[in-house]
Amino acid sequence: MGAGTVVIGTGQAGFQTAASLREQGYQEPITLIGEEPYIPYHRPPLSKGFQVGQQDFESIELRPGKFYQNHRIELVLAQRVAAIDRATKRVTLGSGAQIPYEKLVLAVGARNRVLPIRGAELDGVLSLRTLDEAVVLKERLANAREIVVIGGGFIGLEVASVACTMGKQVTVLEALPRLMSRAVAPVVSEFYEKLHTSKGVKVICGATVSEIAGASGCVQKVLLAGGAAFAADLVLVGIGVAPNVELAREAGLRVTNGIAVNEFLQTDDPDILAIGDCAEHPCVFAGARVRLESVQNAAEQAQCAAATIAGRRDPYRALPWFWTDQYDVKLQMAGISLGHDQIVMRGKPESLKFSVFYFRAGRLAAIDSINRPVDHMMGRRLIAAGIPVSLEEAADESVDLKLLAHRGAQHAVHPPA
Ligand SMILES: Cc1cc2nc3c(=O)[nH]c(=O)nc-3n(C[C@H](O)[C@H](O)[C@H](O)COP(=O)(O)OP(=O)(O)OC[C@H]3O[C@@H](n4cnc5c(N)ncnc54)[C@H](O)[C@@H]3O)c2cc1C
Repeated sequence: MGAGTVVIGTGQAGFQTAASLREQGYQEPITLIGEEPYIPYHRPPLSKGFQVGQQDFESIELRPGKFYQNHRIELVLAQRVAAIDRATKRVTLGSGAQIPYEKLVLAVGARNRVLPIRGAELDGVLSLRTLDEAVVLKERLANAREIVVIGGGFIGLEVASVACTMGKQVTVLEALPRLMSRAVAPVVSEFYEKLHTSKGVKVICGATVSEIAGASGCVQKVLLAGGAAFAADLVLVGIGVAPNVELAREAGLRVTNGIAVNEFLQTDDPDILAIGDCAEHPCVFAGARVRLESVQNAAEQAQCAAATIAGRRDPYRALPWFWTDQYDVKLQMAGISLGHDQIVMRGKPESLKFSVFYFRAGRLAAIDSINRPVDHMMGRRLIAAGIPVSLEEAADESVDLKLLAHRGAQHAVHPPA
């Protein structure tokens, strides 16, 4: 038996690679190495059900501990990989131990960006990525009264909704002119601003945070460049992530906006693959190279990476999708709206149920659905299969998307882009 596959990272992507390799009949050793001390777990609940006590650690484990023994997956936890030696095909752990590999998968994810301002180190200024951070946030939320969320992206807004539902006074400070602006159309941003405001959250866009001030080492307020100040006994910084590319770069692998991979998810070294939040891949649905941060992307790239390792050459072409839960509103996104040139809506924001259809060069590129799960599911089918949809059909509620998906399958013009 050879050295088998070593996977670095015990997040969604790392876990799924190991699981998929076994599902696909891979018999060689599999070693899953992660710097966190826990068996792989779901991150999405950390800003949702975990914070309100609906979910505990056991319920967010990706698989129970015995799964790894039963599937001969060796877990090496609480160990950071410090270096990759491509010449001898070994990784070196922080402890100095070395582990050989035949195939190596970099599923090293991303880390939260740090706010480069005075006061960011004060007690009570938190960020959220890991279980440890979620536990601290949960404890501190219970006793906090005034919460300032810096960053109006998905995670910041999910935490804002949780805190608001717990009866806290919440302010969201977003640097850009609108919420979630990297991902959604203005109409969706507006809807979310109104939603949060209607619940009592103060939302301030175009806000440049200049300093976090405190006393005796503890946070007290957040200051804006214009002079405004917001009292806070807890600050959550959610200003996006940076991919963990250093290990790859030091090993001489190409890094762009992530670890660069081809359609089989291989880096420039065909024996080293990169997947999930850390990787930038060619995406047929974007018509561009992209780095995505979602459970879907991590899990489905892992399945593709496992296939590549098992010797099948199936290019990665899964349709990207994503969701966020804020209050009792679910936003589901399918496809990639990047570069869209037209949008139409189905339903009205006032009804709390509507979808936005994004078109690029006359073709349906993405759908954002608010409390309309059927639109989302049909949207996934329509976009994935490249089924033609007109602007008029998308906007007309009397046009059944299910029928369109069914009928249109015969006229599909896949592959897109
Ligand atoms: C709070 C929160 C809520 C989210 N909600 C949603 C949601 O609603 N919907 C959705 O689709 N997505 C959501 N996401 C995003 C989604 O969870 C991520 O995109 C996905 O988990 C990425 O998985 P990954 O395995 O690529 O990376 P990660 O989960 O970041 O895992 C990478 C792992 O590698 C480890 N690692 C890094 N470097 C090393 C090293 N050198 N040695 C050893 N180990 C290393 C890290 O410690 C980490 O455990 C959420 C994320 C967060 C944080």
